[in-house]
Amino acid sequence: MKKHVHKWMFSASRGYGRSLVSIDRCRVCTEDRERKPTKEERAENREMWDSSKRIHIIHHAFLKRMKDLVGLEAIETAERFAKKHPEEVLFSSVDDDYHAGSDLVFVLHRAKRRFGKRAGEMHYMGATVTYIPQLTREKPISFFLYPSHVEGLRRVLDQLDVAAEEDPERRRERRILAQIFGKSKKRTPARHRT
Ligand SMILES: [Zn+2]
Repeated sequence: MKKHVHKWMFSASRGYGRSLVSIDRCRVCTEDRERKPTKEERAENREMWDSSKRIHIIHHAFLKRMKDLVGLEAIETAERFAKKHPEEVLFSSVDDDYHAGSDLVFVLHRAKRRFGKRAGEMHYMGATVTYIPQLTREKPISFFLYPSHVEGLRRVLDQLDVAAEEDPERRRERRILAQIFGKSKKRTPARHRT
């Protein structure tokens, strides 16, 4: 390696809190050096740990509340939980395999950033979607919906709209439902069940 003046660039950090260390890498020879983090780097690191912990808080509270509940008990528990967290918990109605009204519960993983230069911004990761069948006695199951999944899901739902519009009976039914429920943003009541 030719003799040169190192050109340090921040490359990574290690540890957290008081033990946080910043690592620079030379752009010429790739040698690393460790140094004390700057005030800004400390704030960014604090932000990363803080929001990555808080972003799952509602989800963890939801899991705790749901324990091993199934069926109607699980549905009603989820609804009570949603009332306390209307911003983070959304519902959509589906039928289970016995054609009994059931829930899809969407728990948003998000938190407001509190430290660093993005303090005040929202940090959003995606949503855990839990399917709670009412009568099949199956345990609720969950999947994670990243923002990048939403477009694909919307395309499928649009296709279902097209299919429903092709059937005059479904079309009529949809019109009537639209008149009853309007386009209000209120979540669908979870038990106007069949
Ligand atoms: Zn160098």
